[in-house]
Amino acid sequence: MLLADDSATVRALARIELEDAGYVVVEAANGREALEHAFECAPDVVLLDIEMPVMDGYETVLALKADPRTADVPVVFLTGRVGPDDVVRALKLGGHDYLRKPPEAAELLARVSAALRVKSLQDELRARADELDRVSRTDDLTGLHNRRHMEEHLRMVGAIGRRHGYPYTVLLIDIDHFKQVNDSLGHLAGDGVLQEVALRLRGSIRTEDILGRWGGEEFLVLLPHTGADAAAVLATRLRDVVSGTPFTSGDAEMTVTISIGGAAADAPGEHDLLPLADQELYAAKNAGRDRVRIVRSAG
Ligand code: GH3
Ligand code: MG
Ligand code: MG
Ligand code: MG
Repeated sequence: MLLADDSATVRALARIELEDAGYVVVEAANGREALEHAFECAPDVVLLDIEMPVMDGYETVLALKADPRTADVPVVFLTGRVGPDDVVRALKLGGHDYLRKPPEAAELLARVSAALRVKSLQDELRARADELDRVSRTDDLTGLHNRRHMEEHLRMVGAIGRRHGYPYTVLLIDIDHFKQVNDSLGHLAGDGVLQEVALRLRGSIRTEDILGRWGGEEFLVLLPHTGADAAAVLATRLRDVVSGTPFTSGDAEMTVTISIGGAAADAPGEHDLLPLADQELYAAKNAGRDRVRIVRSAG
């Protein structure tokens, strides 16, 4: 924990109590020092004096709350001030609690431990929310992003492209004759093929590209900063990585192919790429499958 007070006496007294209770205490003599330590050592709680030279407690709590590294760290004010206005101000600026100086040992420890409890609950809630968010955007079978995530990112990539004039491309991928895989080997083997296709695609895109399962045996790839020509190179690589090596399922070995329809926005303007990519995919299927077709959107 971080203990910031310009009075060495106050620090020494509080430190003894806190260390006796098992806390590791880092001291700061003013707000500036407190900030530096806080960013460095990520304390679980900050005990913060209000009146300090260089940077007072009010300024310090504002800076702590404004920085993502320390925004969640509870701040307990140590204050010699007694007016309710001071307390209200301290709490309004983001303080979690306050203690009057000199703090009485039992109260000091009780308030610090209450602040720590809040912090750990907050951390837990955040971790759970992050996990929920991740799960709600992930496809169970393949581990790829799901449709919901892809729809959101399709909008984002489009908006960024439009704003900055960057090209971008959408690829819609569909496994050829996938119904036959299910029919001849069973649905479970079909699932295995879907997973293997996902793995191969994932291994062949660039880090800035976004790949997801669009539904059934269809995948979507978003290629930011990518025009039609570069997209065609990538799409051909994706096709080859699937059809180039046979799939195995139990004793069976089979070749799986995919068709890819793409639409590229490499001119300024409003683009609705998905329907175009879908048309190209349909055309690729009709032209014999196992191939790539990409169209430039006129905008
Ligand atoms: P095409 O070349 O025209 O795309 O032929 P296709 O057989 O792939 O096309 P169709 O759309 O008729 O069939 C898609 C099949 O994908 C039908 C469906 O049972 C299967 N499928 C969709 N989702 C899953 C899944 O999660 N697991 C498995 N095993 N099969 C799936
Ligand atoms: Mg002071
Ligand atoms: Mg399909
Ligand atoms: Mg298909």
